[in-house]
Amino acid sequence: MIEEMNIIEEVKLFAEKEIRPYASNFETTEALPRALIVKMAEKGFLSAPFPKEYGGMGLNPIIYGLLTEEIGKACCSTRALLTVHTSLVGETILSRGSDEQKKFWLPLMASGDKIGAFALTEPDVGTDAKSVKTNYVRVGDTFVINGNKKWITFGGIADFFIVIASNNDEITAFIVDRNLEGVQTKRINGLIGSRAAFVAEVEFKDVHVSENCILGQIGNGYSYIVNSALDFGRHSIAWAGLAIAQESLDSMVSYARQRKQFGKAIYTYQLIQGIIGDAVTNIHAARSLCLSASKMRMEKHEDSIIETSIAKYFTSKIANKIASDAVQVHGGNGCSNNYPVERLFREAKILEIIEGTSQIQQEIISKFGLRRYFKSNYKYIL
Ligand SMILES: Cc1cc2nc3c(=O)[nH]c(=O)nc-3n(C[C@H](O)[C@H](O)[C@H](O)COP(=O)(O)OP(=O)(O)OC[C@H]3O[C@@H](n4cnc5c(N)ncnc54)[C@H](O)[C@@H]3O)c2cc1C
Repeated sequence: MIEEMNIIEEVKLFAEKEIRPYASNFETTEALPRALIVKMAEKGFLSAPFPKEYGGMGLNPIIYGLLTEEIGKACCSTRALLTVHTSLVGETILSRGSDEQKKFWLPLMASGDKIGAFALTEPDVGTDAKSVKTNYVRVGDTFVINGNKKWITFGGIADFFIVIASNNDEITAFIVDRNLEGVQTKRINGLIGSRAAFVAEVEFKDVHVSENCILGQIGNGYSYIVNSALDFGRHSIAWAGLAIAQESLDSMVSYARQRKQFGKAIYTYQLIQGIIGDAVTNIHAARSLCLSASKMRMEKHEDSIIETSIAKYFTSKIANKIASDAVQVHGGNGCSNNYPVERLFREAKILEIIEGTSQIQQEIISKFGLRRYFKSNYKYIL
């Protein structure tokens, strides 16, 4: 445990030196420098949860969560690399890939030589992900993929994609190399957040892949791959939400202690104290949820998936509330990009949309609640 906590100290130092000072510039240029990605790979961050045999650090979900939080506090686009490359793609290949796929892809992902992206969403298909229109057909020994994906984080620089495609509602996941003929990407700029995360549209036009590119089995691309990938993604986003919430709280407390109005520091006003008190309470609750979800994942607890959804839903919601309150406490300064809360406020919104929107989390959580907390012998006492 001491060794693992030392890793977190190292992550903090790295984030303070290599990421935080440049986060605003990453946004302006809408790009993460390749050199930063290489440095993160050298530190082992890109493969933090992969076992050592695949070049990873072998971190458990709690320590990986804390690592994600530290990177996320410094810069959301940099944290998105962990969410997509390491969690959605890497952890999915680790848990669902063949031995051959794991041995091939994971060391390349650990070293940063290959960046992975997850291509599920399409221009007309988002939440209803089972309806993907990207199509595959078998032609001899190969599969031919046609379709368009949208909002693909790191799609602009990814070396390969996990592509979710359908053949008459038989959904299959493929690992598709970017250099194959027929793969085209187009950057999406001007986003509310994730501006440096190379979000892109990806087109697949008569792209031929071989059978060994199938991740999982033909027909289980949704149940076995998408569900698993989103679960890994939600775990990452839960900690990402905590990062934004904590960073917003730190900023609002520091500002409230410095800023004076009516001759007194603004933190002395009870209405400001109310905002800070609620933020502290929500963050403590969110941290407990993140830790409990991560612990349950470590123990392979049967409720770990639902606990992860709850953690993702709650932390992304409170991240939005606390980032908004942090802007409020900063007044006019909070609306300026001279202060970090302006960026946190924008970035928080994305967390309520990706890896299943808040509405879908509510639906999943309520279905669970309706089963778990139903008492068939319940009676009104009049
Ligand atoms: C910055 C960013 C990065 C992203 N990265 C990726 C990525 O790497 N890979 C990828 O595949 N996708 C990615 N996405 C896409 C993201 O996962 C989708 O935007 C998300 O799933 C929602 O789909 P949609 O945008 O089509 O919205 P829609 O599905 O059209 O939903 C619109 C609204 O309707 C609500 N809604 C829909 N259905 C229901 C329902 N049954 N009940 C109640 N409410 C409902 C939603 O909650 C939402 O509020 C990214 C998106 C963004 C913004």
